[in-house]
Amino acid sequence: MHEPAIPSLTGADPEVARLVQAEARRQFEKVRLIASENYVSTAVLEATGSVLTNKYSEGYAGRRYYEGQQVVDPVEELAVTRARTLFGVDHANVQPYSGSPANLAVYLAFLEPGDTVMGMALPAGGHLTHGWGVSATGKWFRSVQYGVRKETGVVDLDEVRDLARAERPKVIFCGGTAIPRTIDFPAFAEVAREVGAVLVADIAHIAGLVAGGAHPSPVGHAQVITTTTHKTLRGPRGAMILSDAEHAKAVDKAVFPGLQGGPHNHTTAAIAVALGEALDPGFGLYAHAVVQNAKALAAALVERGFELVSGGTDNHLVLVDLTSKGIGGKPAAKAMDRAGIEANYNTVPFDPRKPFDPSGVRLGTAAITTRGLTVEQMPQVAAWIDRAVAAVGDEGELDRIAAEVAELMAGYPMPGWA
Ligand SMILES: *Cc1c(COP(=O)(O)O)cnc(C)c1O
Repeated sequence: MHEPAIPSLTGADPEVARLVQAEARRQFEKVRLIASENYVSTAVLEATGSVLTNKYSEGYAGRRYYEGQQVVDPVEELAVTRARTLFGVDHANVQPYSGSPANLAVYLAFLEPGDTVMGMALPAGGHLTHGWGVSATGKWFRSVQYGVRKETGVVDLDEVRDLARAERPKVIFCGGTAIPRTIDFPAFAEVAREVGAVLVADIAHIAGLVAGGAHPSPVGHAQVITTTTHKTLRGPRGAMILSDAEHAKAVDKAVFPGLQGGPHNHTTAAIAVALGEALDPGFGLYAHAVVQNAKALAAALVERGFELVSGGTDNHLVLVDLTSKGIGGKPAAKAMDRAGIEANYNTVPFDPRKPFDPSGVRLGTAAITTRGLTVEQMPQVAAWIDRAVAAVGDEGELDRIAAEVAELMAGYPMPGWA
């Protein structure tokens, strides 16, 4: 059963309630390996479901355009203070609705339409909002994109430096959505300094690892840091922009009134709760366990003949290139899902296949680590993946795997399910 319990919803709208229960059960029974997902605590769920959703609060604490902020102001101040403490930054804006609007705010703050922005290409592991062509950031700005080296699968900082020297971007993004290796923030900072660009570290995926000391911090290297709050950081769906004092005012003006109206106060409260949890010493253990699990999963997959982009991982993410297995990413991900192992199909660098049916699957260990799985279970998870990929189309075998998966996961409590 979903926790917190949903008796009012069940009474008022049994159709929606049934779907909520079904999703909770699905999350309980599966090995969830989508690298951007997690399980939030019951406390975060309660804050997200609170009456703070009823309140309008355009502006910032002490400078609002609506009355009745006696409670919301301290809530937002708490979230801001905890963000500044956790990451050790001068300034935090906790209002962006999600990661994509947070990045858009960065464009509004530091670029004019047509100005040059540099980011990692989407097929190499970057994010749409780092200047990819189909995104507003690629349409309204002049975007130049760097990739990874073919032989190593990692960013080529010589290429980044050459490109930056030639194109003189005003903003450089580092970070992305499918990067299995450590991001070299000091090296990016050196390039940005040389060409006079603002360095933006988008740590959406790795924020929890940074907070928990399991990935180097961009603080002191990137003047501006954007992040979602719902990936490894394990908070509600939302985002933050962190910055040094110099860039704080431009960031705030861009978020409001530049881009958004009222902040989502229930989300702000839940962000405060999640940041409080991340300030607890136990969070560092979680962050390190996420990385250990990813390394163990990567090693077990390599042992079974899977090829990994960059050969392994330094963080929570494993990018599997299925070319040598003779199967596309999409049928593999669909078979895995039927087998109770949830992942997403993903392009690999220099992918010869189409984005709708690319060569890879992306795996992440944040959610299963939150559930309590350890390195001991990773060979079993890899074995299931291997069996599922080999059993495409064999629904009997996929259902047998799913039953085994559900049996394992039944032994691990899920926040949000009682
Ligand atoms: C997930 C992600 C985003 C976007 O976040 P949304 O909340 O989905 O809009 C931006 N940048 C990176 C690097 C991401 O991984």
